[in-house]
Amino acid sequence: MFDLIVKGGTLPDGRVADIGIKGDRIAAVEPRLEAEAGEVIDAAGDLVSPPFVDPHFHMDATLSYGLPRVNASGTLLEGIGLWGELKEIMTLEGLKERALAYCDWAASMGLLHIRSHVDTCDDRLLGVQAMLEVREAVKPYIDLQLVAFPQDGVFRDPTAWDNTVRALDMGVDVVGGIPHFERTMAEGARSVTALCELAAERGLPVDLHCDETDDPMSRHVETLAMEAQRLGLQGRAVGSHLTSMHSMDNYYVSKLLPLMAEAGLAAIPNPLINIVLQGRHDSFPKRRGMTRVKELRAMGIPVAFGQDCVLDPWYSLGTADMLDVAFMGLHVAQMTHPEEMRACFSMVTEESAKVIGLEGYGLAPGCAASLVVLDAADPVDALRLRPARLAVVAKGKVVARSPRADAALSLLGRPGSVRRRRPVPGRA
Ligand SMILES: [Zn+2]
Repeated sequence: MFDLIVKGGTLPDGRVADIGIKGDRIAAVEPRLEAEAGEVIDAAGDLVSPPFVDPHFHMDATLSYGLPRVNASGTLLEGIGLWGELKEIMTLEGLKERALAYCDWAASMGLLHIRSHVDTCDDRLLGVQAMLEVREAVKPYIDLQLVAFPQDGVFRDPTAWDNTVRALDMGVDVVGGIPHFERTMAEGARSVTALCELAAERGLPVDLHCDETDDPMSRHVETLAMEAQRLGLQGRAVGSHLTSMHSMDNYYVSKLLPLMAEAGLAAIPNPLINIVLQGRHDSFPKRRGMTRVKELRAMGIPVAFGQDCVLDPWYSLGTADMLDVAFMGLHVAQMTHPEEMRACFSMVTEESAKVIGLEGYGLAPGCAASLVVLDAADPVDALRLRPARLAVVAKGKVVARSPRADAALSLLGRPGSVRRRRPVPGRA
């Protein structure tokens, strides 16, 4: 007897299976489960995936677009300035309300794991307080990891170091930073060292906004790799963004990639944001600003795609759909081979889960009973369609359902409805 069976779905690896759930755990994954269940979801012909994972987000800023004004230049730097204005006027209740509204969107899209940076450059630590409360509130359906993020520079802002330490004391999970925003390259490198030492002392992961610039000489990822190795942080150190790698000298990159691999670093590009914020100081040709995804992966460096922003001072769009993120990543990185497209799907699901160190994630007995049923036949078609989430199960409970997006047709001699699935090859 199961509490819930998801019947006949196609898993991302192509297997067709029934998934039996007891309580908040997956109890069985078999071609055919002959057992009673409290509830059955018919997923025949549909893709059943483990939940989407966003490894890089800013939940304290989300859904604030237009408060108190919009970003006129569209640059990262104006976004940071605008966020500074917003911080002056925000309230604990407002922060929580926006974050919880975003988590509703996320749950509806099957996005059930989020690593969010939270600004620690605020002596009141209002954002930290709010996000800790939100982390508790959404625990039944979303696992929220928090990164202590000194947005204005852990050294550049006079109280940021103490506030970052305080945020960790309050229960924030990961050490963050922004070395390219410190006053000089030397200060940036010093901040990488100090933050990695802080992570090592506390046994925490470290995830730095690193080299989010078009400056080919911004090379803090090199210091991050060295410190990760020196301090034994292999496997729990992440460089987020790494956009300067797009512009770096090719010879230098040929030295850098093996250093990153040796240090066990992972990379988190944020395709929607990188493509929209970088290259703003260029005329033509205009740089695309996303890091070297294929080259990183070829070196065995884990890469996960992050969403970064939804309706905030840096980005005026966004939907909580990680397939939008992977779709943009696929295009900008030109990952069009079938294996590369499947990798893009994994970079917002399984590979992303590994990058942020999730345990009990996946579609196997013993894993958390969280999954999403998509109106698509397989991961590549899911990327192409970015389809409806027919059902979302979080920790054993059905938390969202959506109808299929079939269109009714009135065309003489043609079918009465259409669902834009990829056709099965027939006549040549
Ligand atoms: Zn970010």
